[in-house]
Order: sequence, then structure tokens, then C-alpha cells
Amino acid sequence: MNKYKKDFPVFENKPCVYLDSAATAQRPSAVIEAEKYFYENMNANPLRGLYDLSMAATDAYAEARSCVREFINASDDAEIIFTRNTTESLNLVAYSYGLNFIHEGDEIVTTVMEHHSNMLPWQMVAERTGAKLIYLEPEKDGTFSDEELDRKITDKCKLISIAQVSNVLGCVNPIKKLADRVHKNGGVIVVDGAQSVPHMRVDVQELGADFLAFSGHKLMAPFGIGVLYGKRDLLEKMPPFLTGGEMIEYVRLDGATWAELPHKFEAGTVNPAGAYGLKASIEYLQSVGFDYIRETEDRLTSMIFEEFKKFPYIHVCGSDDPLKHTGIVAFTIDGVHPHDIASILDADKVDIRAGHHCAQPLMDFLGVGNTARASLYLYNDEDDVESFLNSIKKVRKIMGFDK
Ligand code: PMP
Repeated sequence: MNKYKKDFPVFENKPCVYLDSAATAQRPSAVIEAEKYFYENMNANPLRGLYDLSMAATDAYAEARSCVREFINASDDAEIIFTRNTTESLNLVAYSYGLNFIHEGDEIVTTVMEHHSNMLPWQMVAERTGAKLIYLEPEKDGTFSDEELDRKITDKCKLISIAQVSNVLGCVNPIKKLADRVHKNGGVIVVDGAQSVPHMRVDVQELGADFLAFSGHKLMAPFGIGVLYGKRDLLEKMPPFLTGGEMIEYVRLDGATWAELPHKFEAGTVNPAGAYGLKASIEYLQSVGFDYIRETEDRLTSMIFEEFKKFPYIHVCGSDDPLKHTGIVAFTIDGVHPHDIASILDADKVDIRAGHHCAQPLMDFLGVGNTARASLYLYNDEDDVESFLNSIKKVRKIMGFDK
């Protein structure tokens, strides 16, 4: 059994084979305890009160910000904005940067493999500014050819927004290369790190990322806390996204001035317990280490691929190389709707996802309506994969094939 599994109380309370970590991760006791500790020992509205409890909440919140800054190697705590999730972080960039710094005639480049969260905000920016929205199309294995990049990233491209890891194909996109291209035009790159940050070391400076969005819940933190990293000079010139309490310096009847970063982008009461839990999740993640995560995901994905190869009616989306999947295996079984696959597996307490994975344009591009998806994380092991595969082998029989 995986040595980390015991750290996750859900597996003892509700035994299951959890293969839906791309949707949300399970939480270790360290995170659950941290959030509880906050409420039991530091619970007050931070940044406001001049009494002990409130100051403890303020400190906890600030420590969490520093922890995130170090984790992604940002150069300044002010570059870390706490949000609710990746979706809110990406919308913040679209509304605050996109609507103000992208103009008619500019081009925004994204890809057909994006999660809706990283597609709809750019459709909105294009529609309102008159900019042109251009979609990169990948090869079958999820890579982008140089010809495709040359054809679609012109000198009019002022913003690229792309997932570092696709939540369906699992491929890792070439952020650095794209950053270099858009920077030549004086533009910016927005990185959707929802599926990368929990699985690999992400260094915003090394990548050349101008913005990076991710969700706490996919890296074992509580629900409701997310992050937007933005380069300081960009955040400084952007107007606030939401307005209200905490984000102001001074309010008059005829206007206001804004608080310093990062508070300018954190209107209203913040989520210090979530941030404190996020810090605990990052510390837990670091105690496990990305090498272990990578090695575990690669080994288990390879096991799945080896077995799937024996069944011509199973088709995996994306690369044929299991090491290029970041632990994500989206697949179809001929003649069986993915919802039926998921229901049959559920009867064996194997939890996978079925549907369009909030990536309908990618489903259209791949020519599949929906897919099933198994996604792995650091607590999975060989037993999980064996249970999954045993269950998968029953699917066609139950559906009336292969009598
Ligand atoms: N982008 C990607 C690549 C994702 O996988 C997800 C979550 N499925 C999101 C964005 C949105 O994340 P959230 O729902 O936490 O905002």
C-alpha cells in the first residue's frame, strides 16, 4: 500500500479507489487539522482588528502568502493574490488586464484544449475589445507543431493564455517557448496552472509567466482558496477587479484610491482559514516531494497503458506515451457511453470522472462527445490501479458485448 495513503482520513472512513484527483484532490489530516486549528485558535477577521486574535489571523494569512510566493518562486509577496479558485484568477486577468490593455486589432491566442475557465474569459475580452481570438490546434499527442505556432502567433499577438497541463490530454505545454514569442511583441502570457502546480515544480520566473492561476483544492488545500500570481509591474498598472472593503486606501463620496498590492485585488473579507490550509497543503506536498509524485504517477499510468493496449476497443486521448500524461488518462470504450463506464466502476467503489471535463471544444476537436477519465495523485498505488483495471474489464460484458 502507498505509504502516504494513511495520511488521508477519507480512505479509512469511506474506502474507495479514488481516481478523480484532476477534479479535486483528497485532503491529508495535516490540512484538515490546520484549518481546524485556525478556527479554534485564530478566528477573527484579519487585516482589521487591533486585538490579538485578529492579529494572529493577519499573521497566518501573511505567512500563507509568503509560503505560496516561495513555492512558485515569485519575487515578491505582493505578486500573490488570493482568490477563490483558478476560474476567478483567470477572470481577474481577463477583466482587469484584458479589457484595459488589449485593443481592437490585437490578437489573443489560446488553444482548443483549454478548460472552459480559460476560454470563456478570452471570448468575452475579444468580443468587448474587438481583438481577434485565435485557437492553436494540437497534434494527436497534444503537442503543437512549429508550423502551427508560426502560422497563428503573429506580431499582432498581445496575449497568450494556455494551460500548462491539459486536464484531458495530460500533456505539458511549452510555456517558456510561448512566453518568449509573446514577449517579443510586448505582450503577456497567462498560464493556467490548475493541473500543473499540484504535480510538478512550477517556477514562474524560469517559465517567464506573466500570470499564473491555480486552485488550492487540486493540491489538497481546502475548497474556496485559489491563487493568482502576477508580475508586479503588471498588477500595479491594472485597475481593481472587484471593489469594496479592504481594497481601498481612501474613499470619498466622489471616488476612491486603491490599497497597495496585493490588497487592491482582494476586495471584501478574505479566506484566512483557507489560506492557512493552503500553506499546510504546500508543506505536505513538499514533504512528499515532486520526485515521488512524478515517479508514482508515471509508474501507475504505465500500468494502465500496458493493460489498455490489450483491448482494441479502448482508446486513450492524447499521447501513446504514458510518461506524457501527468497522471491523467482520458479514454473511451467502443459502444459504451462514458457515463455507463463510470456507473459500472462506481458499483465497485472505483471513482472516475465521465463527461466533457469542461472542455467541450476539445471533445469536438477529438471527435468524441464525452470521455471517461482516471486521474492519479500521490496517494494512489498498484492496488488502486488493479481494482480499476478489473472493473474496466467487466464493462463491455455488462453492456452486452464480448459474451
Ligand atoms: N483549468 C484547468 C486546466 C482545470 O483542470 C480546472 C479544473 N477542472 C480549471 C481550470 C478550473 O478550476 P476551478 O474549478 O478550481 O476554478
